[in-house]
Amino acid sequence: MVGSDAAEVITEVCRLYDMKGEKAVFAAKNGRVIQYRDFCVVIGTTDTYVVDEEFCTCGDFTYRGSQCWHILAYRTAKALGTIVERDEWYQDSF
Ligand SMILES: [Zn+2]
Repeated sequence: MVGSDAAEVITEVCRLYDMKGEKAVFAAKNGRVIQYRDFCVVIGTTDTYVVDEEFCTCGDFTYRGSQCWHILAYRTAKALGTIVERDEWYQDSF
């Protein structure tokens, strides 16, 4: 269930980040943020990235140092309580 706090987070994310925010909210709402036992990942359009509050393995973050939408997705999913939990090790799936 999405409460009013979550709605506020979504509004805030969209206001601050436009397109990135919309992608983030979409991913968060569609089970694309997955918490494994060892890592949290975001399933992007072309690849899957390991994320946390302030880190992401994608090129945008690594090379441009900008906050990418994967991190936003993680934060949004956390606020919404939509992080999908998997009782598996992410590293095993490489
Ligand atoms: Zn990223």
